[in-house]
Amino acid sequence: MRLEVLGASGGIGGDCRTTALRVDDDLLLDCGTGVGDLPLSALVAIDHVLLSHAHLDHVALLPMLADVRVGRRTEPLAVYALPETLAAVRECLFNGRLWPDYTSPAMPYVHLRPVAYGCPIELDGRRFTPLPVRHAVPAAAWRLDSGSASLVFSGDTTYSEAFWNELAAIPNLRHLIIETTFLNDNEDGCEASGHTNARRLARGLARLARPVVVHVTHMEPGREADIWAEVLTACAGFAPRRLERGQVITF
Ligand SMILES: [Zn+2]
Ligand SMILES: [Zn+2]
Repeated sequence: MRLEVLGASGGIGGDCRTTALRVDDDLLLDCGTGVGDLPLSALVAIDHVLLSHAHLDHVALLPMLADVRVGRRTEPLAVYALPETLAAVRECLFNGRLWPDYTSPAMPYVHLRPVAYGCPIELDGRRFTPLPVRHAVPAAAWRLDSGSASLVFSGDTTYSEAFWNELAAIPNLRHLIIETTFLNDNEDGCEASGHTNARRLARGLARLARPVVVHVTHMEPGREADIWAEVLTACAGFAPRRLERGQVITF
């Protein structure tokens, strides 16, 4: 599989784009503002969107992505997520007020497909499995298994026993893309909003066998340098990398 980073920030401003990862030519993990930089032909080629959760920085461009296909593609755009996430997307985005209801029989341009933790879906020989995380709203990480190696994308999460247990049990885990939104001194924010800081990240990584390539994403805009310095100190043994827009990971 080939994963291209379209957006890897916790917010907007300047060159920041919010979370979106393109897998091969036909699939997106989350649909944040990074999607808007793709050329029209690449947008039309997207058939599947896997969502981590319904927060706007991860779904903001989903309505307009669906719109691109209207009149250009006959098959609906398939959106996979937890039932709670799909309900929020339908009720808050495709509700006929913010955007047309593209999930309705009259305009069947989007198919909402519920998934469950631990139950994989197969798409053209690629396996995608939602994993449990702990965030302010129902959320999932996604494991991508190419057959020879796995990559896990955390979505948004604070420290979660269940999540790190799942990671530790993946025999072919090669890449981990994980959020580190806040500074270490913002423990209250981590707990209240379900995000990670360097200290919490280090606690989880200690559970993993090396070598796993750790890619840090979703840092709070304006505090990236300080957060990154804390990550380098707390997680030095893993030689973490900073996820950047434009990077490509193959596995
Ligand atoms: Zn979130
Ligand atoms: Zn987020």
